[in-house]
Amino acid sequence: AQGKPVYKRILLKLSGEALMGDDAFGINRQVLQHMIEEIRSVLDLGVQIGIVVGGGNIFRGVALGATGMDRATGDYMGMLATVMNAMALQDCCRNNGIEARVQSALHIEQVAEPYIRGKALRHLRLGRVVIFAAGTGNPFMTTDTTAALRGAEVGADIVLKATKVDGIYTADPKKDPTATMYDEITFDHALRTNLKVMDATAFALCREQGLPIKVFNINKKGALRRVVLGEKEGTLVHS
Ligand code: UDP
Repeated sequence: AQGKPVYKRILLKLSGEALMGDDAFGINRQVLQHMIEEIRSVLDLGVQIGIVVGGGNIFRGVALGATGMDRATGDYMGMLATVMNAMALQDCCRNNGIEARVQSALHIEQVAEPYIRGKALRHLRLGRVVIFAAGTGNPFMTTDTTAALRGAEVGADIVLKATKVDGIYTADPKKDPTATMYDEITFDHALRTNLKVMDATAFALCREQGLPIKVFNINKKGALRRVVLGEKEGTLVHS
């Protein structure tokens, strides 16, 4: 319960799949509720939270691209999928008494504020959760890249990549039983050993900006709070 957060402002990347749980599609209510509890546990520490949500639980641009349709069109559809997830997350925050605002990189003002950096910063300072929707607003990009971009823009202390695995391993633990998890690793080491942390664009942006990344398991109860308190949890990627 006691302990001081080591970060003032965090950028949490939640993939669409993280919201899906064990379902095959869409948003799982219980999973969403779990996310809200995790978020609350760090808000209670006075930490400011920006969230980038993915859309993979609903739609991915490459899926349409594979059918021979226009890739950019598919990507815009993917961005719209992230808006749905963002709206669900915002709704759940509000139902639980947490103030939240969706800011969208695509203009759909009936359902979300447009992304305006200054306004996002103001919301954050006021303790509101800011949910960044519609990715970067550009095709051929990912929500990981969005997390790096928005994280850098709002001056987050760290990008927290929420996954289903505990961290970054020396090899795929499903294939190699001798694989071990790193507690921390440098950007250069990750690059040299070809470890997948985020996609190349996201990784390059974080590395260039000296913005650390932590990969951790969001399904583990209390993990987000432990990360924020600087306790042993996940893998830190740093300069
Ligand atoms: N997307 C995009 N530009 C962005 C972010 C996302 O075109 O800046 C599209 C892309 O088609 C992607 C989809 O939105 O497949 C969903 O995002 P992502 O795959 O990153 O979601 P996640 O894997 O985190 O669920």
